[in-house]
Amino acid sequence: MKEFSFQNPTKLVFGKNSISKLAEELSAYGNKILVVYGGGSIKRNGLYDELMQILKDENKEVFEFAGVEPNPRLSTAKRGAEICKENDIDFILAVGGGSVIDCTKLIASAAKYDGDPWDFVTKKASPKEAIPFGTILTIAATGSEMNAGSVITNEETEEKYGWGGPLNFPKFSILDPTYTLSLPKDQTVYGIVDMMSHIFEQYFHNASNTPLQDELCEGALRAIMEAGEKLVNDLQNYELRETILLGGTWGLNGFLGMGNAGGDWGTHDIEHAISAVYDIPHAGGLAILFPHWMKQTLHLNPARYARLSVKVFGVNPEGKSDEEIAIEGIDKLRAYWTSIGAPERLADYGIDGTKIDIMAKKAAVNGPLGRYAQLSEEEVKTLLEASL
Ligand code: NAP
Ligand code: FE
Repeated sequence: MKEFSFQNPTKLVFGKNSISKLAEELSAYGNKILVVYGGGSIKRNGLYDELMQILKDENKEVFEFAGVEPNPRLSTAKRGAEICKENDIDFILAVGGGSVIDCTKLIASAAKYDGDPWDFVTKKASPKEAIPFGTILTIAATGSEMNAGSVITNEETEEKYGWGGPLNFPKFSILDPTYTLSLPKDQTVYGIVDMMSHIFEQYFHNASNTPLQDELCEGALRAIMEAGEKLVNDLQNYELRETILLGGTWGLNGFLGMGNAGGDWGTHDIEHAISAVYDIPHAGGLAILFPHWMKQTLHLNPARYARLSVKVFGVNPEGKSDEEIAIEGIDKLRAYWTSIGAPERLADYGIDGTKIDIMAKKAAVNGPLGRYAQLSEEEVKTLLEASL
């Protein structure tokens, strides 16, 4: 294992009617609350009304910032920060998915900063102070509800980057599977792909002797895949929603990655370059890229890919080389994602090869891609071409 320090201060409040704990959680903060949400799904599924009633009963002074878009934009975060500054907001409540939460993380820090908040995303500056915030999660996917990551798109420059820091941890996150019952099939599938991808990113690394972490990753993948394939045909099943909701949190709350030197994350960076140019759903891009990334990088450590194939994808290893086992497993991953309805090719989003050079350049702007695989710009092009 690599040396590591670990701290995750976010309090999880999980389960049916966990919103009943909201008033207690808010009691530690001031009275002026900014509620940040997306395009309106929380109004359609009843969460908005329930939340507003609680805030009214608690005599909170409520401000609203609606319309955070999927793949949240810098300009949106800036507008949210202005509302905080103008109204001296004490606490922000992010109600929605990864996009709303990621945007809230930037709003919280930007509200205490006089410069351009893009400085934080590009790591030119780091926040010294932020407005505290909590979340009510409505989609199982990113883990943003219990991590310090935030992914922001600068629509003017067509750049999308992740950034993080200790002030980005939510104070608490309320997770009630009930709120995820209204998710349509496509968003449910995207969530499953994203959380599985987060585990893959952490499973491939340069550290040695990580048997506990390996087993945890493999077990989480098996549980998510088993629940996921049932859930896409049974969207109202509470227990399956429950498993997937916790799966998303565990996929990226840091516990699976202890001692693994940070994992790879190159595939996420390449996906961000695609989304920056074409604004496609994050996990749609991941579903297309990851099997190709695995095939392109399996020569680095065939035994590890073979282990994943046997332990997670159920490949029978008898009489086969590690490479053969690995390829069979990667094909099974592809078949699994296709079977639940995830996209296979960039062409599924109408993307052709005309902007491959631009995307590869954007992805490799800070040098080789991924801590483990370290793909060059040329290798990223090869990956994108295979994904067309
Ligand atoms: P999302 O972009 O937050 O939401 C996707 C869509 O699902 C929205 O249109 C949203 O509609 C809808 N939706 C959400 N909850 C719903 C519900 N309960 N019922 C019906 N519709 C619902 O999805 P996400 O996958 O959670 O977040 C994706 C973003 O997170 C990307 O920008 C990605 O790059 C980033 N990301 C962050 C991390 C991290 O660690 N921070 C990790 C991976 C990815 P409304 O807008 O109407 O609510
Ligand atoms: Fe992701």
